[in-house]
Amino acid sequence: MSENNESHLVPNRECGQCTACCVVLLIDDKNFKKPADQRCVNIMKTGGCKIYNKRPSVCQEWHCAWRFMAQLDENWRPDRSGILLRSDENGIIFQPIQDPKKVLTNERTIELIGGGVAQGIPMSMSIPTKKGFRSYSVSLNEPLEIAVQSRNLFTIQEKMVELIEFASAQNTSSIAD
Ligand code: SF4
Ligand code: SF4
Repeated sequence: MSENNESHLVPNRECGQCTACCVVLLIDDKNFKKPADQRCVNIMKTGGCKIYNKRPSVCQEWHCAWRFMAQLDENWRPDRSGILLRSDENGIIFQPIQDPKKVLTNERTIELIGGGVAQGIPMSMSIPTKKGFRSYSVSLNEPLEIAVQSRNLFTIQEKMVELIEFASAQNTSSIAD
C-alpha cells in the first residue's frame, strides 16, 4: 500500500469505473473500516464511489501504482489488467484480481516483472489462497533471477506458474482474524 501526495499522480489519469482497491483491500482506519476481498458498500452498480467527493481520507490518500507510474499505459488500469499494482517501501507488489496464472504470466506482465528483477527493484506477488483466508506473499527477485537471465519467456512463465502454485497452497490466517 502506498500513500502518495496528489502531485505524484500521472496528470489526467483517473480511476474511472475501476473499483479494484475498493473491493480487494482491507481498510482499517479510525474513520472507516472494511474487510479485505469484500465490495465496499459505497461502490455504485455502475462502478465508482457513490460518496466520491466525501469519501474518507484513507480513500483519498491511497492510490494504486497505476495512478502514479507514468510508464504503465491505460491497459494497466487494474480492472483491465486484472492486477492491482501496489508500491511501498518494500518495492512493487503484484496482486492479481483475476486468474493469477493468466494475468501474471502473460507477455506484458512478464516483461514488467522481468525488467524489474533485472534492475534489482524489489518485486513480490500476493496470491489468493483458500476462500476466506489471507493471500500469501512471495518475493520474486531471487526465485526468478536465473529464469530472467535466460531471457527465455517460456522459462520465466514456467517459474512463475511454479511460484503461484506454491503460494496458493499455503496455509494463511483467516481474513476474519
Ligand atoms: S485500483 Fe487504482 S485505478 Fe482502481 S480504483 Fe483503486 S486507485 Fe483507482
Ligand atoms: S468509500 Fe468509496 S473510495 Fe472508499 S473504499 Fe468505499 S467505494 Fe472505495
